[in-house]
Amino acid sequence: MLQQAKIDEFKSRFRGEVVAPGDAGYDAARKVYNAMIDRSPGLIARCADVADVIEAVRFGRESDVLVAVRGGGHNGGGLGVCDGGLVIDLSRLNGVRVDPAARTARVEGGCTWGDVDHATHAFGMATPGGMISTTGVGGLTLGGGIGYLTRKYGLTIDNVLEADMVLADGRFVTVGPQQNEDLYWAIRGGGGNFGIVTSFLFRLHPVDTVNAGPMFWPMEQATEVMQFYREFIVNAPEELNGFFAFMTVPPVPIFPEELHMKQVCGIVWCHTGTASQLEEAFKPVRKFRPPIFEFVGAMPHPVLQSMFDGLLPPGLQWYWKADFFNTLSDRAITAHAEHGARMPTPLSTMHLYPINGAAHRVGSADTAFSYRDADFAEVIGGIDPDPANKDRIIGWARAYWEATHPFGAGGAYVNFVMDEGQETVRASYRGNYSRLAAIKATYDPTNFFKVNQNIQPASARSAGA
Ligand SMILES: Cc1cc2nc3c(=O)[nH]c(=O)nc-3n(C[C@H](O)[C@H](O)[C@H](O)COP(=O)(O)OP(=O)(O)OC[C@H]3O[C@@H](n4cnc5c(N)ncnc54)[C@H](O)[C@@H]3O)c2cc1C
Repeated sequence: MLQQAKIDEFKSRFRGEVVAPGDAGYDAARKVYNAMIDRSPGLIARCADVADVIEAVRFGRESDVLVAVRGGGHNGGGLGVCDGGLVIDLSRLNGVRVDPAARTARVEGGCTWGDVDHATHAFGMATPGGMISTTGVGGLTLGGGIGYLTRKYGLTIDNVLEADMVLADGRFVTVGPQQNEDLYWAIRGGGGNFGIVTSFLFRLHPVDTVNAGPMFWPMEQATEVMQFYREFIVNAPEELNGFFAFMTVPPVPIFPEELHMKQVCGIVWCHTGTASQLEEAFKPVRKFRPPIFEFVGAMPHPVLQSMFDGLLPPGLQWYWKADFFNTLSDRAITAHAEHGARMPTPLSTMHLYPINGAAHRVGSADTAFSYRDADFAEVIGGIDPDPANKDRIIGWARAYWEATHPFGAGGAYVNFVMDEGQETVRASYRGNYSRLAAIKATYDPTNFFKVNQNIQPASARSAGA
C-alpha cells in the first residue's frame, strides 16, 4: 500500500516529477496511446536519471504495490500503466549519443524511435526500429522489434550490443555478450520481465536516403496480390523490404480524390540501395500488374519512419490480434481476402511484416525471440477514434483472427497482442519459455515486474502460482 509518509520520503530522494491523483497533470500522465485503456495508478514517478529508477524500484518494492514500467506508452494492452500502485515512467530518459566512429548509439530507455532516428540520421546511419516515430524504443526492442530494415539488418534485438538495467532488487547491471549473458539473452525478446533497461547500446548501419513508399491495388485483387507477395518478398534482395496491408485510403491531398475512402490492399516498400538497384529488384513487381497508386521515391530515412504518424495520433481506440506465419497457404489467403474486405472503420487494418532475411540468420534459441523460422508476423488492428465503435472493432479483429489463426505457426509477436494471458505468452516463446522462467526465477523471483507479457518465475510456476 502507498503510504503518505513513505511517498514524502521517496519524493525527498527523487529528482524527477511525482504525479499523484488530484495533481493538475495526473489525467494526462496516466493516459497511454491506446484510449481503450483507462487505468488510474496510485502514483506516477517520472524518472530524471538512473538514480531515480533505482529509487523508484526500491520504493515500489518496499511499498509492496503493483508496479508498471512505461517506456513510450504504445503497448496495445496498456502494459505501461496499472490500476493503483506505481508507474515508473521513463519518458524523460530520452537522450541519444551517437558514436560515429564505432557506429553505435547509446539510447536511453524512455526514448521514442523519433528520438533515435533524428539523432542517427545526422550521421547517415540507422538501426532497425519501429515504423511510427512515437513508439517507445523500450517496449518495442524488448519484445523483438520488426521494421523496414529487418530483412537487411535483422530484428531490433539483433542490433542490441549491450544494455544497462536496474533489476528487481535495485541492483544496476550491464548486460552483453561477455557479462550477465543470461540476462542479455533474455531481454532480447523476453520483454520487460527482467528489469528496467535504462539504456541500450545499438549497432548502427549506413542508412541515409531510402527509396520507399506505398503501392495500392484494388481490394478485389487482394488474393492475387497476396499470392504474388508471399513468393516475391521471401526471395527479394535483402535491401528491399515491403509489408502487405489492407487499408482505407485517407481523404488527404497526397492521394487521388477518386481513391479517397476506398478500401485497398497495398505494399509499403523500403529499399536501402540506389534507385536503379530498386528498379532491378522491382522487375517482378512491374511485370505483375500495375498498381492503382504508387508513391515510391527517395526520402530521408526518418521521413519514412514518421510517414504514418499523422494517421495514427494518440487517443484512438485500438484492439490488436496477431499471429506468426511460416507461409501463406491459398486457404489462408482466401480468409485474409474475405476479412480484409470487411474492415469496420477507416483506420482498421491488417499488416503482414516479412521477418526473413537477416532475421532468419539468428537461431530460434539464440535469443528469447523464438519464431526465427516464421516468414511473416501478422497484426490485425481494429482502430477508431470513437469509443462507441469499440465492440465493432473488437468483433472484426477477433473474427478475422479466428479465420486465419488455424493457418498460423502457433504463436504471435508479443508486441502485437493485447494482454491475453499465459496461453499466448507460452505459445509465443515456445521452447524458450522454460529458460526464460528459470532466468526470471533468478533475477525476479517474486515477479515484481509483472505488468508485461508475463513470464512466471520457474519456482512459482511449479508451485502453481
Ligand atoms: C502505432 C504503433 C506502431 C507500432 N509499430 C511497430 C513496429 O513497427 N514494429 C514493432 O516491432 N512493433 C510496433 N508496435 C508495437 C510496439 O512494439 C509495442 O506496442 C511496444 O510494447 C511499445 O513499446 P513502448 O515502450 O512504447 O510501450 P509501453 O506501453 O511503454 O511498454 C510496453 C511494455 O514494455 C515495457 N517497457 C517499456 N520500456 C521499458 C524499459 N526501458 N525497460 C523495461 N521495460 C520496458 C513495459 O513495462 C511494458 O510491459 C507499434 C505499436 C503502435 C501503437
